[in-house]
Amino acid sequence: MQNIDAQTVFYGLIGHPVGHSRSPLLQNELIRQFGLNAAYMAMNVESGGLKDFVQGMHKAHAGGFNVTVPYKKDVIEELVSIDEAAQMLGAVNTLKYTDKGWAGYNTDLPGFRRALAYDGVSLKGKNVVLLGAGGAAMAVLAGIFQEGAARVLAANRTEEKAAELIGRFEHPGCMTETAVMDGKYLAKRMGELSAEPWTAVQCTSVGMLPHTEEAPVTEPEFYLRLETAYDIIFNPARTKFMRLAAEAGAKDFNGLRMLVFQGIRSFEIWHNVKVTDEQALEVLKLAEESFRA
Ligand code: NAP
Repeated sequence: MQNIDAQTVFYGLIGHPVGHSRSPLLQNELIRQFGLNAAYMAMNVESGGLKDFVQGMHKAHAGGFNVTVPYKKDVIEELVSIDEAAQMLGAVNTLKYTDKGWAGYNTDLPGFRRALAYDGVSLKGKNVVLLGAGGAAMAVLAGIFQEGAARVLAANRTEEKAAELIGRFEHPGCMTETAVMDGKYLAKRMGELSAEPWTAVQCTSVGMLPHTEEAPVTEPEFYLRLETAYDIIFNPARTKFMRLAAEAGAKDFNGLRMLVFQGIRSFEIWHNVKVTDEQALEVLKLAEESFRA
């Protein structure tokens, strides 16, 4: 931890709850690596307290904040500007101090894309099956379209939500279809749509700790269609979805790099720096250790 003095600039995470967040660990490691006079803490802002907190922190010249559940949409009212990704997703996870007020950004989308690049997963021209249609799936789907996927089959327990999600984006050149989350149906439909292998991106909350023996799809025929299985869950490090995919011969990845790279992108925005993959590796190791502990 840096020495804190009268020049130290304050950064933090705003959410409710925030007690399990790894952001303070990771952001303070980056602050240390870059030798900045800054400090980052998690702020548990109770319901109804967002506006006062955000306005007060601007008056106090705090440097910036990450924003998490449940404030990613509500915080938009407090901004003087919003970047393209945040506008497209209707959700802000990063605030940066400007003289005029808070500027808002969404780093979930660039975080997902940098994680794919770091893992060497290309979606260009690929068949992608997206599982889930919640808040995280929105940023992921925007990323899948930007990466240039050829086809997206979007499956959700509630199929209407998958249709709503697809309908939010323009996706020229990418064929889309929705489905209900039924492994037998998905496997059959994936085979009908393309003889090429598929990449699955798992964005439901099924399989998260402590429900580590659950997966959104369990049918082997679904997994046999996959060459890559990307789960955005990061705890546990290996979900049942990932294990089933690996047993069927696919490469599997968890969501830790997405988590870490969205934080890294926030850090880059706040401090006008570029974090290299080598520097990111140190942060990733720390994140991995924190989940093993
Ligand atoms: P969310 O908005 O609550 O969405 C939850 C999704 O899971 C919905 O699609 C929901 O389907 C589905 N679901 C929930 N229970 C289910 C069940 N029993 N069977 C089938 N589907 C079920 O949550 P979120 O914010 O998108 O987060 C989803 C996951 O992503 C969480 O595990 C979270 O930890 C992870 N995440 C990771 C990162 C990262 O950086 N790696 C970032 C954000 C989130 P319905 O629509 O039918 O309810």
